[in-house]
Amino acid sequence: MKDFKTILVAVDFSDSSINAFQLALSMARKFSAKLVLLHVINEPVDLRGFYVPHISFEKLEEEIEEGAHKMMDSFCRQNLTDYADHECLIVAGIPYEQIIDQASSKSADLIVLGTHGRTGLDHVLFGSTAEKVVRKSPFPVLTVRLEEES
Ligand code: AMP
Repeated sequence: MKDFKTILVAVDFSDSSINAFQLALSMARKFSAKLVLLHVINEPVDLRGFYVPHISFEKLEEEIEEGAHKMMDSFCRQNLTDYADHECLIVAGIPYEQIIDQASSKSADLIVLGTHGRTGLDHVLFGSTAEKVVRKSPFPVLTVRLEEES
């Protein structure tokens, strides 16, 4: 059986992704793997500098980044104090692209995702980020469905 050395789990703090995180953490424990927790700040590329003057956008971005770091710090403190081999990572960009890029730069053997994110929208198969990662990732992807999802 393949030995997982680095597992990347993508977390948008939705119930579905937290459920995926719990599975990723138990797998990391089982394989003594490094667990990389990734949150992507969804960048509103099309809106940048269009509706709002540049200066306001910079302030908004700063606040969003600060909020994301606070959320991630608190999540990691609550859930990972007893698992030292982990890294909590925040980047900005398009979630599915960043998930694949970060999996590549961290040499992840496995990507773990929930089937739905914060919008809870039902796409054709599952959430669009999950769908795109499954379609485009050169690395194995494990999607985890929450029990109460229909
Ligand atoms: P979605 O396609 O948005 O319904 O989300 C499906 C799964 O992709 C979520 O359960 C997360 O595991 C992951 N995901 C979605 N958006 C993000 C994000 N901004 N940062 C990290 N992971 C994400």
